[in-house]
Amino acid sequence: MLVLSSPSGAGKSTLTRLLTEEEHRAGRPFHLSISVTTRAKRPSEVDGVHYHFISRARFESMREHGELLEWAEVHGNLYGTPREPVEQALERGQDVLFDIDWQGTLQLYEAARPDVVAVFVLPPSIAELKARLERRAEDATDVIARRLANTPTELEHWVDYDYVLINRDVAEAFSNLKAILAAERVRRTRQHGLADFVKDLLRELEG
Ligand code: 5GP
Repeated sequence: MLVLSSPSGAGKSTLTRLLTEEEHRAGRPFHLSISVTTRAKRPSEVDGVHYHFISRARFESMREHGELLEWAEVHGNLYGTPREPVEQALERGQDVLFDIDWQGTLQLYEAARPDVVAVFVLPPSIAELKARLERRAEDATDVIARRLANTPTELEHWVDYDYVLINRDVAEAFSNLKAILAAERVRRTRQHGLADFVKDLLRELEG
């Protein structure tokens, strides 16, 4: 489970999109977790692609029935990860990418710390973060202000993460993200069947 978190406007969505495209191009098993949210859809967003946009009542029902792997209130809206698609992807042996905040990351740690790799994306400066929030131009001024007001709390949580990327240049940040994924995939503890593979090597050596 690969988690990407950042304050709003640090450029995390771009990295998520680039990684998803790259993995599909390479034909590697990869699953992007699509969250449910009570937030209103932005004009550019597609229901079922960026999020599943649902009512608060539906969200609460999912939460009460244990259908969410983790959930949090962020900028006044509710967000959560549907449990079933993630569990199915993991059973198929696919890696899963999550675009969730620090509250959700801590919940995933509690559920399965050894299976989680968490990456925090920092903006190069607050000026750049503001510029990105404003460039998006899909959110109302008060929505942008609320996101900026939450930035200090979000920034403080960099210490909870395994890796930190400073997004000065998207190509460089993406390259580092790919390196993290590649390295974490070959971790000894994550490679199943290694003992048998080495046994076969030894047999071949003898025979
Ligand atoms: P946005 O409204 O800009 O799409 O997302 C706002 C914040 O909510 C982002 O930091 C995003 O990572 C976080 N978020 C999105 N989906 C989830 C989720 O399912 N769980 C949690 N904990 N956070 C989420």
